[in-house]
Amino acid sequence: MTKWVYTFDEVSEAEALVGDWDSVRGLLGGKGANLADMTRLGVPVPPGFTVTTEACNAYTDAGLTVPEGMWDQVRSALDHVEEKTGKKFGDPKNPLLVSCRSGAKFSMPGMMDTVLDIGLNHEVAAELAEISGDAHFAYDSYRRLIQMFGSVVLGNPDEPYEEILEEFRAKTGVATDAELPTDALKDIVERFLEITPRFPSDPDEQLKLAVEAVFKSWSGKRAVDYRNASNIAHDLGTAVNVQTMVFGNLGEDCLTGVAMSRHGATGENHIEGDYLFNAQGEDVVAGIRATIPVGQMATDMPKAFEELQAISDQLELHYRDMQDMEFTVENGKLWLLQTRDGKRTAQAAVRIAVELVEEGKISKEEAVMRVTPDQIDFFLHPQFSIESRKEAKAAGNLLAEGLNVSPGAAVGMVAFDADTAVDWAEAGKKVMLVRPETKPDDVHGMLAAEGIVTSRGGRTSHAALVARQFGKPAVVGIAELDIDLEGRTMSVGDRVVAEGDFVSIEGTSGEVFVGQLPTVIPDINDRWLSTLLGWADEFRRLRVLANADYPVDAKRALEYGAEGIGLCRTEHMFFEAERLPTVQRMILADTTEEREEALDILMPMQRGDFRGLFEAMSGMPVIIRMIDPPLHEFLPAQGDLEHELHDLEKDTAASHDAEIKEIERKIGRVEGLHEENPMLGFRGVRLGILMPEIPKMQARAIIEAACDAKENGFDPKPEIMIPVSIHVKEIERVKGFIVEVANEVMAARGIEVEYQVGTMVETPRAALTAGPLAREAEFFSFGTNDLTQTTFAISRDDAEKSFLIKYVEDGILPVNPFQTLDRLGVGGLIKIAVEGGRAQRPGMEIGICGEHGGDPESVALCHEFGLDYVSCSPFRVPVARLAAAHAAINDA
Ligand code: ADP
Ligand code: MG
Ligand code: MG
Repeated sequence: MTKWVYTFDEVSEAEALVGDWDSVRGLLGGKGANLADMTRLGVPVPPGFTVTTEACNAYTDAGLTVPEGMWDQVRSALDHVEEKTGKKFGDPKNPLLVSCRSGAKFSMPGMMDTVLDIGLNHEVAAELAEISGDAHFAYDSYRRLIQMFGSVVLGNPDEPYEEILEEFRAKTGVATDAELPTDALKDIVERFLEITPRFPSDPDEQLKLAVEAVFKSWSGKRAVDYRNASNIAHDLGTAVNVQTMVFGNLGEDCLTGVAMSRHGATGENHIEGDYLFNAQGEDVVAGIRATIPVGQMATDMPKAFEELQAISDQLELHYRDMQDMEFTVENGKLWLLQTRDGKRTAQAAVRIAVELVEEGKISKEEAVMRVTPDQIDFFLHPQFSIESRKEAKAAGNLLAEGLNVSPGAAVGMVAFDADTAVDWAEAGKKVMLVRPETKPDDVHGMLAAEGIVTSRGGRTSHAALVARQFGKPAVVGIAELDIDLEGRTMSVGDRVVAEGDFVSIEGTSGEVFVGQLPTVIPDINDRWLSTLLGWADEFRRLRVLANADYPVDAKRALEYGAEGIGLCRTEHMFFEAERLPTVQRMILADTTEEREEALDILMPMQRGDFRGLFEAMSGMPVIIRMIDPPLHEFLPAQGDLEHELHDLEKDTAASHDAEIKEIERKIGRVEGLHEENPMLGFRGVRLGILMPEIPKMQARAIIEAACDAKENGFDPKPEIMIPVSIHVKEIERVKGFIVEVANEVMAARGIEVEYQVGTMVETPRAALTAGPLAREAEFFSFGTNDLTQTTFAISRDDAEKSFLIKYVEDGILPVNPFQTLDRLGVGGLIKIAVEGGRAQRPGMEIGICGEHGGDPESVALCHEFGLDYVSCSPFRVPVARLAAAHAAINDA
């Protein structure tokens, strides 16, 4: 016979049956498992039992029929509870009251609300009034039961109940329900029963209906939607906890409250929370009465507080993490009603992890694993300050909460379509794009906006994917947000926001506020964060380098913990306003001499840039890539030149023959350089093969800069990287130019510089012929942006505008391969190349540059493929450091 029911005393049996704690949580739900576990620890928990998630699944599978034997087991468990409490369920003389609480493996909104005070009816209430000597308490509990049962179990609307309460508050002249006199409560009970004709007076019937209602809520629309949106499996089921009631509403030495063992927002190590005297259940969170900060309990009820503090410490030690607890004090006696690992902000997560290590409670490794790369990302985006969020909430300005799909805070004026967003952004306004959902047509608006809000869609919706892609904060899937595109307003309940009004969103938490909240940038040098990242560095095997083109970027990268430069794109230096004309002259030159003249001007400029990099990164590798993009990217648009020509020809006042000739020549060159597929065209190493003067100039600038740096007492480690190679002969040729120049420079300067020449691997052919390439190339760096494009034969710029996001939304591709490395395809090529390269040149340095270097999942793959380093944008360096540590720890 399947065991459908476990009393809180049977947790060891459950554990023996299913094996590990995670499975116990699967069977009993998080709430039930921890209630039983606390019971085992000797923490005061009101006796009770748990109906398993398996029973819920059996119920669902059998078309809403309770599995055989379940009610009998419930009855036996109830016997056990009656024995422990000395009370009897349904016995008016000595009544046991219980609560019925849902609890899945993961805490989940959308599940059925708790029903308290089950077991009351007219007779029991009357006796309870006698026994407790507190009629007010008895009828207060009774009216709560009818209302909760009516709305939660029977699905009645709440308003009629609230209206009756309101009527009686007015009639008796009191402000809160707690102050209603006993007679009024009795009348309320009668009125409630009138509008709840299906309320069963039989306690057994009450319990059965409540348990079944919890089972049903698992398959209810709200719960299903939530699981879909957050990728929770539908076959987990929910458990039901039935637990002896303890009463926080039994007079003035009673209270009910919630507490965290540490501060959930800042991570400070002191108990934090709120309570209310003479209250029950949800009163504390419902915000009907002003709550009291938990610290005040030290004065109000010192014994109970001391015990709460001790239990809080005990539970933290046991669960080895910050705890979020629910408790009640009945006539001075403390009871724990729930504990779970507490939710926390990224800041608090980091601080708590570090302090738990410092207190000797967890290991450094665990601390590193407790913080997610996404949480590190938090430190790199603007945020709303804790105070401003608190104030906004207190002022009632929290409009709604949705899915937190793209981190960071953003403030903007609501725009309901992409074109409006673009228009306003161009007029210098800050815009928040709000749509029911987004489509490819909306992308221009999404880019123009500070942040994105949608009422529909989940974590893999178009809006979520695009927002993450472009680093825009976003909150999606806000079910209660009504968007009226015609009326140009949106609303939640009766709160209306018009187009043009300001809203503030917090993409890390999923909150949407009305109005403008001030933003702050969290401190990356925060003591706790640097400690944690320092520990991460102890564990990771991958080195983390940065993509940096200028000395300022190099300095920032160093601050963030980079160990060198993995990619310096030299062409960025060419685009600077004062250099571009010379670059254009160089490209448009008809003869080698003319080209060399222009290059002679550019050389010292590049040399200066490189020296800055070498000096900033003394002792660390600086990988410099030779010019890569198609040359036409540097040239003026043909249309512009034609306009210029036209204007000159129209001007008859003076003769422009020479100028016209020059422009005609330029147009000819631009036409000549035009390509149908520039991405697959005249670029990368191909430029250097046809125009050797360019790599020679760049090699000279690099080696001279290294000599300069060395003379200044620095330790330059230049690595020269050849892009887009497809054949070893290309490398052989260009390496020849480089070595020739380097030898010449070093001889002239009388300085030896150690340098390497390697190549990027960014075409399938390069990967497949890595062995031969490695005969010449001394190192490899996977340019995974291009390697992904060439492997998929997909142009990123075009694909993301048209079909790619749809592919991911529909699950044809699991992720956007430009964001997260494609394990099988691109990853397969990487594996082949690593093997081929190292077979030819044992121990050669291999890494990746490209945006994947800052993506946690891709970093884990790089670890798996045995790369030496990842290189990413300076801002992503801390994220990559932690991700690399996670990969190494998971590996070990
Ligand atoms: P949720 O999952 O929404 O937090 P709970 O099942 O934890 O719902 O119940 C909400 C609140 O109801 C608890 O915090 C507690 O205050 C109260 N409650 C639940 N069961 C009992 C009980 N047996 N005795 C007293 N209060 C209870
Ligand atoms: Mg709870
Ligand atoms: Mg490339």
